[in-house]
Amino acid sequence: MRMKERKRNPASPPLRAVYAELFAAFGPQKWWPGRTRFEVMVGAVLTQNTAWTNVEKAIRRLRRERVLQPQALHAVETATLAEWIRPAGYFRLKADRLKSLTTALMRDFDGNLNRCFKLSDEDLRAWLLAVKGIGPETADSILLYAAGRAQFVVDAYTRRVLERHDWLAAHASYDEVARLFMENLPRDVALYNEYHALIVQLGKTYCRPQPRCASCPLRHRLPR
Ligand code: SF4
Repeated sequence: MRMKERKRNPASPPLRAVYAELFAAFGPQKWWPGRTRFEVMVGAVLTQNTAWTNVEKAIRRLRRERVLQPQALHAVETATLAEWIRPAGYFRLKADRLKSLTTALMRDFDGNLNRCFKLSDEDLRAWLLAVKGIGPETADSILLYAAGRAQFVVDAYTRRVLERHDWLAAHASYDEVARLFMENLPRDVALYNEYHALIVQLGKTYCRPQPRCASCPLRHRLPR
């Protein structure tokens, strides 16, 4: 007979205090570094599984080729696009994903972002998630950083920090983690923007695969 799995009850995370401590430690992060809404959308696809410095090289190339608009990008051959975004890694897959995004934009909104961003939060999220290759993290990055919607973005760093502090139930889904933030913080675009960026900074600097707790600003919050 299988033993019943013991349910862990995570402590509720002091999200406001943690935000204040991270902001005091790292300062404003000034995200997202895209020049236009469409550039942010492209960046959100390109940044999957790669460092932002590699994305910047690919974006610079797209800018040089003057294709950072839905219609222009859509008109580029997928093989050519893949070559242009090669520095971002997984370039063939990402070229396919960008083409899926521009195909959906052209089909549903004639490539007009104003029309696309007229959708309600819920409908816009559902529309993005229906595009092949766009998962919740990419969709929510676009919602928050391109469309200015109060949607919290969850990434691997977020999950790692919460788990290490015993603030997350085992096997919590993406949406459960996002809800944890959205139900315990005001619905505030600027706050969500900064908070996600600070968590990324925390993950890159201290909460790495080998954590550097001794010098981390959240060390006093580790479970005993
Ligand atoms: S590095 Fe250590 S103290 Fe800092 S967030 Fe990660 S687990 Fe917490």
